[in-house]
Amino acid sequence: MREQGIASPSALEGERQFETALRPTKLADFTGQPKLKENLSIAIEAAKQRGEAMDHVLLYGPPGLGKTTLATIIAAELGVGFEQTSGPILQKKLDLTGVLTNIRPRQVFFIDEVHRLLPDVEEILYAALEDFRMDILIGTGPGARTHSIAIPHFTAIGATTRQGLVSAPLRGRFGLVLRLNHYGVEELTAIVLRSAKLLGVTVDRDGAEEIARRSRGTPRIANRLLRRVRDYAQVRAEGHIDLPIATVALDLLEVDRFGLDEIDQKIMLTLLEKYGGGPVGVNTIAASIDEEADTIEEVYEPYLMQLGFIDRTPRGRIGTDRAFDYFKIPRRMRGGVQSPLF
Ligand code: ADP
Repeated sequence: MREQGIASPSALEGERQFETALRPTKLADFTGQPKLKENLSIAIEAAKQRGEAMDHVLLYGPPGLGKTTLATIIAAELGVGFEQTSGPILQKKLDLTGVLTNIRPRQVFFIDEVHRLLPDVEEILYAALEDFRMDILIGTGPGARTHSIAIPHFTAIGATTRQGLVSAPLRGRFGLVLRLNHYGVEELTAIVLRSAKLLGVTVDRDGAEEIARRSRGTPRIANRLLRRVRDYAQVRAEGHIDLPIATVALDLLEVDRFGLDEIDQKIMLTLLEKYGGGPVGVNTIAASIDEEADTIEEVYEPYLMQLGFIDRTPRGRIGTDRAFDYFKIPRRMRGGVQSPLF
């Protein structure tokens, strides 16, 4: 998802440190996603009992929902080492063989943006994940030979925002494939309250809930907004965050009442205004706003559907009454058919 504004490197570093400080380290402190947590805790317990490496895990879902956090929690709960890389960083086969050579028994190897691996790097990963071995080429020219080297059993955790772009052979090598969903207001409120405590900020429940409501179902956004509201409260209200302070601060930041970002708004306005509420195909919406269809499907639409703004039907996407009301668009052209009332 696109981030709003352009941040300087030092601002990004500050953001990273801030995120790390708020990251839960135990599964019990990870709010929400009950089904996923249950699946993971069984897999973790079983691996611990057997004293073996846990199955490989593929985590998918929109950005900021806790994939990296879960990977670090899994390593901590298993009591093993944690190594992190990402698809775009592993540019060459040698980069991956370098990491695999140093892998320790049972450790967690986290690969973020796993859909962005280059094909020949991905191929090396297949053998490593399936047979715990890697083939390396020794020598050059006609005398070159391939040697197969065994590597210790380890747990790979892949993360992706774009499930549809993970190749079938790669996906098939992950024993557990788990989806993260957007969080409800209750869960995000709990996350805001927890983060506030860690930051030493006082916030009452209504204030936390207002921040949660405007966080687009996303813990990363909730934590970011809390940080901004904290600044406002510090300068204008002796540090305490309640509902009026949270509301004024968030309005000042121009955060939409449901946390919708620029692309969410473009999708909705295209659907409601340009296509009279649909039904319209996702490819048509994508072409209108110059965005990829599967990014819309995997990253944006889930939240808009959770809000009850979009319905998926066999004939295409439909904008709901709730969406027409929220965007204050007259229903004149609903379904592309002129209503007899107008
Ligand atoms: P992703 O890897 O999916 O983009 P991260 O794991 O980096 O997301 O999470 C972003 C931030 O949100 C982290 O700082 C983390 O503290 C917070 N966070 C995410 N999920 C949760 C959760 N379930 N409970 C508490 N905090 C969370």
